[in-house]
Amino acid sequence: MQAQFAAHAERSEREFLMANEITFHSWDHDQNEVIEWERLGECNQCGECCTAMIRFNVAGERFETLPDGTLMFPTTNVTPKSGGTTTDGKGLWHSITRGNLTRFFEVTEQGEIGSHYCPQLLGNNRCAVQSNKTLFNKVWPMHPNQVTPYPNCSYKFDEVARWRLDEL
Ligand code: SF4
Repeated sequence: MQAQFAAHAERSEREFLMANEITFHSWDHDQNEVIEWERLGECNQCGECCTAMIRFNVAGERFETLPDGTLMFPTTNVTPKSGGTTTDGKGLWHSITRGNLTRFFEVTEQGEIGSHYCPQLLGNNRCAVQSNKTLFNKVWPMHPNQVTPYPNCSYKFDEVARWRLDEL
């Protein structure tokens, strides 16, 4: 049963990303580089990222709703940063692109495991709101840094392409 669920989860996560044309980029203003990442693997439901405090800034509208009614970002642990829809040109930002829409966020805190328990985390490490998650939650993690604090996270990342930021 567990193997069946894992196979289904892998299929549905990949299908979700592909069907929705979702891509991830990191925008490193200190290193002057933009990298497109491909996420590999599947969530093994270790629950580590669900039991850690993760805070981030978003550029633009914090409560943006996508055309299909999906909220773009969670409404807690989020701070609107720049008021615009682009980065503030400092540090490491990330973007989620879905079709013609690109939105930026900046991770400001990734706490240790046990630093915060998501209230939607069920006893079996499943998510109580799996089908109603925000886009951000559905596609987390999006960068190698976002799995580093969680040793049992089963996601890996491949670099797809790299550009100089000042040449874009
Ligand atoms: S740490 Fe990685 S494998 Fe574990 S629940 Fe979070 S995304 Fe899934």
